[in-house]
Amino acid sequence: MILILTPNITPEKEEYKQLMSALANLQNIQIRVHTVQGTEQLLTEVYLIGNTKSLSTDYMKSLPGVEKVVRVSEEYRVLGRHKNDDRPTHFYYNGVRFGQDNLNIFAGLCAVDTPEHVEMMMKALHENGLVCTRMGAYKPRTSPYSFQGHGRKCLPYVFELAGKYGIKVIAMEVTHESHVMEIRETLYRTGNPTGVMLQIGTRNIQNFELLKIVGRQQEFPVLIKRGFGITLDESLNAAEYLASEGNHKVVFCLRGMKTNMGDPHRNFVDFAHVPVVKHLTRMPVCIDPSHSVGLRSSDPNGILDIMHVTAQGVIAGANMILVDFHPEPNKALVDGPQALLLKELPHFLEDVQIAREAYEKRLALAQRYR
Ligand code: PEP
Ligand code: MN
Repeated sequence: MILILTPNITPEKEEYKQLMSALANLQNIQIRVHTVQGTEQLLTEVYLIGNTKSLSTDYMKSLPGVEKVVRVSEEYRVLGRHKNDDRPTHFYYNGVRFGQDNLNIFAGLCAVDTPEHVEMMMKALHENGLVCTRMGAYKPRTSPYSFQGHGRKCLPYVFELAGKYGIKVIAMEVTHESHVMEIRETLYRTGNPTGVMLQIGTRNIQNFELLKIVGRQQEFPVLIKRGFGITLDESLNAAEYLASEGNHKVVFCLRGMKTNMGDPHRNFVDFAHVPVVKHLTRMPVCIDPSHSVGLRSSDPNGILDIMHVTAQGVIAGANMILVDFHPEPNKALVDGPQALLLKELPHFLEDVQIAREAYEKRLALAQRYR
C-alpha cells in the first residue's frame, strides 16, 4: 500500500509526526518513506510493506497528512501501474523530461575511442538539435581479450565536450560501484558540464547488488536494459530493485532477445513489448535498435533494418531511442558493424519524426473510438 501525502509536508510538521506514530502501531508492517523534489513541490510517498490486506483504505486515508491511498498488487510495487494510481509517469533530469508520453533520442558512440571521434559525434548531435547521447566508457565484453573501454581516463574529455556542444544527458553503462563514484567525481571536477544516465546492461540486469547500489543513489537516473535471456517479468522485477532502494527515475530499455530465431539479426527484436511495459509499469520505455539488429542490412529500397525497427518501436509509443552512430565505423573498437554514419543522422531523425507523428495520430484515433 502506498500513502501519498499532502504536498510539501515535512517531518517537522505536526501532522507528519501524528501519521508516523499511527503507522508505528501497525503490526508487521515495514515503512519506507520516499521523497521527490518536483519543480514546484516536495512529494512524499510512504510505502507500507507487509500484509496490508487487512488495512482499510478509508482508515488510512483518514490519517493526518494523507492525501491519497493506492493499494498495490504484489507485482512491481513502486514502478507498477496500479488501479486508481495516478502517480506521474514522467520525471525530469538536468532539464530533460523523460515520460511515457514523450520521446528522447540518444544517438552516440557504443564505446568511446578517441577524443576526435567524441567531438565529431557531439558536434553532429548539436547541429541536429539533439541534447542527449550515449557514450560507453566501461564496456562489458564477451571476451576478456576484447577492448574493455577507456574507463575513467576518458571521462574528463567526454564530459567537457558534451558541455561544449550543449549535451545535457549521456547514457553510460556502469558495471561496478566504483564507476558511479568515478562518474560523480569527474562531473564534479569538470564543473558539471553535462549529466549522466547510468545504464545497467543486459548482462548485469540480475546483478542485484549492483542494482541496490545504483538504486540507493538518487543523483543519476537509470536506464535498465532488459535481460536478453530471461522473462519480461524477471526484467521488470530487476527494475523494481532500483526503485525499492529509492531511485524512481528509471527508464526500461528493450534491446532484443538472444535466440537464433531472430537470425540474421543479432537479437530477436522485441519492440512489440513497448505497449506491454507501458501498461504494466509507469516507466518510460526505451528501444535500442542497434543492439537488436546488430548489422547494417537494408531492404530493397535502401531503408536500413535498424531504421525499420526504430520506426516500429516509435509507432508503438516508445519514449526513448538508444542508437549507435560512429564517424568511422570501420575504426570503431566496439560494434562498428551496427553503427550508423554521421551523415545518416538527419535521415534517421526525419524517419523517426514520421513514425512519431503516426503514433500521435493513432493516439488521437484511439481517443475518438474510445
Ligand atoms: C550497450 O548499450 O552498449 C550494450 C552493451 O548493450 P546491452 O547491455 O543491451 O548488450
Ligand atoms: Mn554495443
